[in-house]
Amino acid sequence: MATIFTKIINKEIPANIVYEDEDVIAFKDIAPVAPVHILVVPKKEIATINDIKEDDAYLIGKVYLTISKLAKEFGLAEKGYRVVSNCNEHAGQTVFHIHFHLIGGEKLGTMV
Ligand code: AMP
Repeated sequence: MATIFTKIINKEIPANIVYEDEDVIAFKDIAPVAPVHILVVPKKEIATINDIKEDDAYLIGKVYLTISKLAKEFGLAEKGYRVVSNCNEHAGQTVFHIHFHLIGGEKLGTMV
């Protein structure tokens, strides 16, 4: 089912897009939790990590390649950063189109 991220991909609503190609889009999170908070999103509508199929392996690899490039571009690579992808209720997923939070720009608290 289409989510707000499909509207961003289709340019029906605005977003601060920092990267885009035919498969992947990346834009700034509307509610950042750190100085750099970018959402890296495959354009294909996949609701949760549970729904990733064998055929999506290349796409998910491309997402991580994009994350690596953006981390360098935004000056996060050397000091470090965190990549988070929430799945379903216990993790607090709110948008059911898989996405990867790229978070950094300061010393991050421990996660658990
Ligand atoms: P999650 O809770 O892991 O599903 O993450 C969803 C993220 O999407 C949250 O961090 C929201 O702040 C972010 N978000 C929701 N709507 C928008 C939007 N229109 N533009 C940018 N980020 C958004």
